[in-house]
Amino acid sequence: MKLRPWSLVGALTALTVVVPALGLAPPDEGGATTPPTKPAPTAATQRAADAPLALARHTAANGLEVVVFENHAVPLVTIEIAFRNGAMTEPPNFSGVSHLYEHMFFKANAKYPSQEAYMARANALGIVFNGTTGTERVNYFFTTTSEHLDDAMEFMRDAITSPTFDPGELDRERKVVIGEMDRAESSPFFLFSRELDERLWYKHPSRKDSLGSRKTVGSATVQMLRTIQQRYYVPNNGLLVVTGDVKAQSIFDQVDRLYADWKRGPDPFQKFPLIEHPPLKKTEVVVMENERVPAFVGQLSWHGPSLRAEELGATYAADGFATVLAEASSPFQQRLVESGHCLQASFGWYTQRNVGPINLSFAAAPNKAEACTKAIMAELGRMTAPDYVSRKNLVDAAHRLKIDKVKERERPSEYAHLLTFWWASADIDYYRTYVEKVGAVQPKDVADFMQTYVTDKPFVLGALITPEMKAAGITEEKVRSWAGLGGDS
Ligand SMILES: [Zn+2]
Repeated sequence: MKLRPWSLVGALTALTVVVPALGLAPPDEGGATTPPTKPAPTAATQRAADAPLALARHTAANGLEVVVFENHAVPLVTIEIAFRNGAMTEPPNFSGVSHLYEHMFFKANAKYPSQEAYMARANALGIVFNGTTGTERVNYFFTTTSEHLDDAMEFMRDAITSPTFDPGELDRERKVVIGEMDRAESSPFFLFSRELDERLWYKHPSRKDSLGSRKTVGSATVQMLRTIQQRYYVPNNGLLVVTGDVKAQSIFDQVDRLYADWKRGPDPFQKFPLIEHPPLKKTEVVVMENERVPAFVGQLSWHGPSLRAEELGATYAADGFATVLAEASSPFQQRLVESGHCLQASFGWYTQRNVGPINLSFAAAPNKAEACTKAIMAELGRMTAPDYVSRKNLVDAAHRLKIDKVKERERPSEYAHLLTFWWASADIDYYRTYVEKVGAVQPKDVADFMQTYVTDKPFVLGALITPEMKAAGITEEKVRSWAGLGGDS
């Protein structure tokens, strides 16, 4: 499931009554998506859901993967390039440099030698562009009208293959990125997530921190950008997606021609393998205070599966299970939210190549903090029972995911981002067969998933409170005790 990394942020901002506009992710942080929508299945959506996924695929001689999704409803095209790069590839001395690189993408290159020339060309082509940097993907996208397709394809090629990294522009973008850090740090939810992440990924926190370190970004050099380019911006580590009013075969021909001189590089993940996040040694509790928190916010986090052969089954079980629990009629939602204990509760695993976190997030009115936390822990005890979900629950969940997947195709420009997200952390085949695999999950698979990653495993428990809540007696000792971890009772 493509839950946003700061899942509680998304969940809380959905509580508009409680949280007006706090804690939005920085605009170019990757991984964000809307929560699954659940329309009533009609005959029409079912027919559409059964239609084969209309993705045309091609691999260029240099290893560049290409996916085209045709949709001729409106004369728009989106061209998106993604690389497997971002925080997972960053040791501490590169923390945040993938993100800084992202800012340098929309700059001068061999064809457009100045920022003015670059912008003039983008404007002439009517291109709306942006990029994002996440933990496992960096992506860039251009959307314009289909009459500009050929020129936009070339414009993208020039940006990918020949950036000049002007030192003056680099200086400017360093400041822009530091400004993004300032904005992110003004959000209590961002600070809270970072506190939890530092404990969850204690050995290699930089590998999960796509915004990165001020110090590293502040002193990054052109040479460091070149290092990233040489290692990760190689065709065999990239996916080009073109969606909208285009013809697949013509795109494939164009790609073969435009990228003929772009040379394959060594597989970056053979030369620089992903690090291993060691398992948590003990359960940790952190209580953070911030005066701008609208409710008592809690989160339990565990290390979940990675996208690799031996854990694939667990990834489908995790997503099927999370979808069942998101349903308002589920016992999980009934006992936690409908009961009045919590304002919201959600459970999910974040799709990642290198250890996705499992998060159980919740929020409560301050006077219900104890009741909610205790209800969450009691539910967690039930969730590990082998018969907590039925086969019917899982089949219904897969059906909802199927409908969501069809709806994703309604907006081809957004769909391009989804495709590159799945490709970067899994691959296109995983995405294509995803619903079918989730549909085959049995209750026993869910029980195995819980047994492997959650039951009796150490976790990080965080609580975010206001100074008033603390004054009213919500302390770390109390939170520990509510969670059954000893402490004051
Ligand atoms: Zn940025």
